[in-house]
Amino acid sequence: MTQPVPSRPHFDPDCPFCRIAAGEIPADVVYSDEQVLAFRDIAPKAPVHVLVIPRPHFADVRELGADPESAAAVLAGVRAVAEALALPYFTTVFNTGAASGQTVLHAHAHVLSGNGVMWAHGQ
Ligand code: AMP
Ligand code: ZN
Repeated sequence: MTQPVPSRPHFDPDCPFCRIAAGEIPADVVYSDEQVLAFRDIAPKAPVHVLVIPRPHFADVRELGADPESAAAVLAGVRAVAEALALPYFTTVFNTGAASGQTVLHAHAHVLSGNGVMWAHGQ
């Protein structure tokens, strides 16, 4: 019996964030569940800088937004990070497209806090 072909791969071996989700690349994890993983950014742009990713591969928030269950899971992950780190306030950013500053083509929410974070375009 043939299996239906998925419209896109859930795991991209060339994607660093897929490899983090698979445990192939180490990360400083602050929250994890079946649908999402949250870990500290390797080059923080604020005192608190965490990335929340869906475990399956989505190139960006446009693809992610086409899957409401995964999109909601990422927002729930943002909430879980804020709770886990007791953040009194935070800024959440999804870069989309190279001109926006997106460098990793696996959808991720930046969660930034501390010292009056102001996110500038392309930072
Ligand atoms: P963006 O520029 O919006 O695509 O964000 C990608 C972010 O991923 C940047 O802030 C990088 O510092 C961060 N980053 C890249 N590789 C890693 C890694 N292996 N672990 C943690 N953060 C990473
Ligand atoms: Zn990926």
